[in-house]
Amino acid sequence: MAARILDGKAIAKEIQAEIATSVAAHVAAGGMAPGLAAVLVGEDPASQVYVRSKQKACERAGIASWLHRMPDETTTEDLLEVVSQLNGDPNVHGILVQLPLPPQIDELRVLDAIDPAKDVDGFHPQNVGLLSQGRPRFLPCTPSGVMQILARSDISIAGKHAVVLGRSDIVGKPMASLLAQKESTLGPNYCNATVTLCHSRTTNLAELTRQADLVVAAIGRPKFVTADMIRPGAVVIDVGINRTDDGLVGDVDFGPVSEIASAITPVPGGVGRLTVTMLLANTFAAATK
Ligand code: NDP
Repeated sequence: MAARILDGKAIAKEIQAEIATSVAAHVAAGGMAPGLAAVLVGEDPASQVYVRSKQKACERAGIASWLHRMPDETTTEDLLEVVSQLNGDPNVHGILVQLPLPPQIDELRVLDAIDPAKDVDGFHPQNVGLLSQGRPRFLPCTPSGVMQILARSDISIAGKHAVVLGRSDIVGKPMASLLAQKESTLGPNYCNATVTLCHSRTTNLAELTRQADLVVAAIGRPKFVTADMIRPGAVVIDVGINRTDDGLVGDVDFGPVSEIASAITPVPGGVGRLTVTMLLANTFAAATK
């Protein structure tokens, strides 16, 4: 039987409409419009597309946004200076430094310098620590978007075995942490998974994915997850975005896997739409805390 396609585009639209309503109510009650400042260093075409789509989404939700463009040759000190200005600007509730940064920039120093209360990406060590202790301030946007897809599709994960492929600080690790939380604001069905976290040194990867009720793929390898790696009826979430000669593809071999899985996210039109949406949600939360 073909899998249910989990429509990230529709879910993102629904959440963005909810955020727009909340922002309008907040402003009508005399609150300040939430503001997001993005910093883009260099001319990376994919980053430019991401930043533009974030700005457009802000506009639709009634969130003010500013873009600070900096040249390719920007130094760590130059960037730290901009971050410091944004930290001190009361109109700015969220700060986003678009990654990747050019190689001469010390990425960790820059991310560490963002005021944790404005760190709407959730990358600051203080926010990572709070999440790992089960008292998150900002949920990292992509894993948080995955949880929204599961919750809004009524796919309970409590007590289920989730296998996460990839252990990056941005996706894999916080994804595993969120799935394994004891409690969730989304309700008791969206936490308490038993989680296996895989990476490039995992030796028996297919054996592990075949035991999973839920597979979340975030490794950046086109069509890596094949049908023989999936247990019939499992749920498959594809975070991967890979640019190939055939266009954008995920980390999952969508056609064959969708014949085996019970539910699956497409690429494009799946998790990607939620990442921007959860950034808006975090910015609104930062403005109203
Ligand atoms: P990283 O490159 O930072 O991390 C990739 C992870 O995958 C690493 O942990 C790596 O293991 C692991 N890995 C690589 N190859 C294999 C393999 N053959 N078997 C098992 N594990 C492997 O990537 P990101 O986490 O930043 O991104 C992952 C994917 O998600 C990319 O396609 C990216 O474009 C996409 N993405 C999508 C977003 C969205 O909004 N949908 C947002 C962010 C990312 P090791 O640690 O051992 O090196």
